[in-house]
Amino acid sequence: MSENRVRFAPSPTGFLHVGGLRTALFNYLFACGTNGKTILRIEDTDQNRKVEGAVENLIESLEWAKIAFDEGPHVGGDYGPYIQSERLDIYKKYANQLLEQNDAYHCFCTEEDLTRMREEQMANKQDARYDGRCRHLSREVVKQKLEAGIPSVIRMKIDHSLEEIVVKDEVRGDVAFKTSQIDDQVLMKSDGYPTYHLANVVDDHLMKITHVIRGEEWLPSTPKHVQLYHYFGWEIPRFAHLPLLLNADRSKLSKRQGDVATEDYRNKGFLPEALINFVALLGWNTSDDQEIFSLDELKEKFSLDRVGKAGAVFDIEKLKWMNQQYIKQIPIEELAKLVQPYLPQQALDIEPDRLTRIIQVVRDYITTLPDINSKLDLFFNDNPTIEDEDLLAKVKEEPSQQVYKCFIEKVGELDELSSENFGQVMKAVQKETGVKGKNLWIPMRIAITLMEHGPDLSSVVDIFGKEKCLQMVRRVLG
Ligand code: GLU
Repeated sequence: MSENRVRFAPSPTGFLHVGGLRTALFNYLFACGTNGKTILRIEDTDQNRKVEGAVENLIESLEWAKIAFDEGPHVGGDYGPYIQSERLDIYKKYANQLLEQNDAYHCFCTEEDLTRMREEQMANKQDARYDGRCRHLSREVVKQKLEAGIPSVIRMKIDHSLEEIVVKDEVRGDVAFKTSQIDDQVLMKSDGYPTYHLANVVDDHLMKITHVIRGEEWLPSTPKHVQLYHYFGWEIPRFAHLPLLLNADRSKLSKRQGDVATEDYRNKGFLPEALINFVALLGWNTSDDQEIFSLDELKEKFSLDRVGKAGAVFDIEKLKWMNQQYIKQIPIEELAKLVQPYLPQQALDIEPDRLTRIIQVVRDYITTLPDINSKLDLFFNDNPTIEDEDLLAKVKEEPSQQVYKCFIEKVGELDELSSENFGQVMKAVQKETGVKGKNLWIPMRIAITLMEHGPDLSSVVDIFGKEKCLQMVRRVLG
């Protein structure tokens, strides 16, 4: 058996769409799990959509996500060039072969011709499609027009003697397309560039791609590709079309309802491990309920036969939850480095060990890296205030005030206050005031952390020490 070779073949539009990230990931996982090779190919044959720096940006986003390639424009390989605009001669040669075989033809229709054709078809309630009028031009006429320099494209002939073309898909089984519904697709444009369809098939063949794993939006193009493979007499790769990504309301994932670029998530402080884990579950799962997977585990467990057909909802809340799980798990030194760009200057000025202890205390309460900033307010704002009305009311209640007074008295007698003796102090306060349970702990938590729910109280006390704790409690004394 020959080795599996898969490719991720993005068009460089300026950013890596999360759907593209999912496609890249599934290709990569499939290759890793089967000892195959992953190839990056840049499909930039649409010159109108060219964006400066887009290829570098794509590669950077993929590297950030830790998706590695065995071959590609950035790493080389035996089947290059891996950028389609550098392969124009190759496509020309194959387009000519199809012309010679009479499986393709020159079409001289102008934009206006095509618009008129479409309008007439629509007026007659027919499907809008190229009607094949240039299929039947004689060799002589074609030659004359070409010699006269009339612009033309090359279209493939769809073989209408076949009623249908069947695409064998690893996810959807056999999918049949009626040839009467398929256009004579343009293969070469008048600017000498191939269309996606020709370039894609030629490259998949020349690059020895065994499995084409891509988004479902490409399924309707696949019968045209199958026809091309037949015309060239090439072996057809296996296809796997991944289910659509949907917004929460089950419409197709769109920018209007949220971020769709991988770098948006990166900039918002999501960890690559969390995003990858989340994206892996968009259309794939294991038979159990496991949700947290390391990349190594994904490589080991991924298989195409557990990719589903149903559209996968991009649930941002789930992504946030996942990110939080990863933030809780990563080694504290690593987290300290990752949150650096989001720290206030005062935090950077303190002793690193102390800062690490503070980060350790708040890490459980942050969803994305920049969240750290607001959570550190407690430690670095000289004049922090309680905003919430309910909390203010709680602080003013009589039992709370009793607790505060007693706490100040007891702590005042101590040399130092830390997590070690904090419990004893609270016991003593309870004994003396008779206030206990929630009525004892919640007011204390509000006074010292300014929150009802949040970081572990005793850890905060430990970081603050005696003077700062006293200061915090004195502030709420009525
Ligand atoms: N260039 C296409 C894209 O941007 C690739 C489709 C395919 O993988 O065949 O998604």
